[in-house]
Amino acid sequence: MATATLTIDLDAIAANWRALDKLSGPGVQTAAVVKADAYGLGTARVARALAQAGARRFFVAVAEEGVAVRQALGPGPQISILSGHMAGDTEMMHDLDLTPMLNSLEQITRHLEALPGHPFGVQLDTGMNRLGVEMLEWQAVAPILLEAGPVMLMSHLACADEPDHPMNAHQLEVFHEMTDGTGVPRSFAATGGILLGPKYHFDLTRPGVGLYGGRPFDMAERVVTLSLPVIQTREVAPGEIVGYSCGWEAEAPSVVATVAAGYADGITRRLSNNAVLWDGATPCPLIGRVSMDLITVDVTHLPEVPKYLDLLGPHQTVDDLADAAGTIGYEILTSLGHRYLRRYQESRG
Ligand SMILES: *Cc1c(COP(=O)(O)O)cnc(C)c1O
Repeated sequence: MATATLTIDLDAIAANWRALDKLSGPGVQTAAVVKADAYGLGTARVARALAQAGARRFFVAVAEEGVAVRQALGPGPQISILSGHMAGDTEMMHDLDLTPMLNSLEQITRHLEALPGHPFGVQLDTGMNRLGVEMLEWQAVAPILLEAGPVMLMSHLACADEPDHPMNAHQLEVFHEMTDGTGVPRSFAATGGILLGPKYHFDLTRPGVGLYGGRPFDMAERVVTLSLPVIQTREVAPGEIVGYSCGWEAEAPSVVATVAAGYADGITRRLSNNAVLWDGATPCPLIGRVSMDLITVDVTHLPEVPKYLDLLGPHQTVDDLADAAGTIGYEILTSLGHRYLRRYQESRG
């Protein structure tokens, strides 16, 4: 079989959730962010594993993702929609009991008119200027809106992965100014914010990437292993080339393995001539261009050609690969291909 295997350790995701939960006091609830198909790892399996670990509140980006989480978990857990209440969302919100985080006066009006009495939260913009109600608008609508009983007031940090960035303290101050004295439960911290310490935790934290083994949660257990099958091996003489655009030329007699995965599987072309795969603990350089379904690897130094080479595993995390590709672990995770055979590891069975 020339299909690569993506192994997803659900126990590690559960352990990471517990570890992040432990970083805040007993009065702080820990939610789980499962947007973008649980950062590419599979909404249904991941959400169920997190619910089993103890998560009771889930965040997704859009209503359709909320539907998938509800179908996986059944009634009970609160599912919050970060994009708020868009035109066309009303029936989904109602039928699947989704809680929109309202971002603008337009969304507030839409929600209160379409679904009076239906739970909602409000996202406030404390300086990131991406989503959320702005200070002046908030001051105008807060008295009326607080009467309607929001279940949560939340905001999002722009620079939480840089602990010393002055933006963190600035946004914290603005969040206090906008929400102190409201009596409404508050949520401010994603993974990075949790690591900034208790002042940032408020009532509910919302970790995402840390659950899946990514920076900045350095204590995270590794979650993903990506093993790519070797389809064919050949000897290449000095002066011969490998791959599109003659992207690599042998300087010495070499053994080249052709491996089954490419940019159609999320392995970006920016890794051309610029990454390593692993045979156990032995690194093997990716040589030449990444093509759609294939990559080529220099295995000259291996005593025996293995059946598989790992692109993600114990010796290469999503962040290591992201560094090579000039991106971030989040993008590596959410680009993981749909052709991979997905194996879920779960000791509880
Ligand atoms: C994506 C997101 C999160 C989770 O962030 P991580 O950095 O992955 O922990 C939390 N809150 C909001 C508003 C988000 O957009």
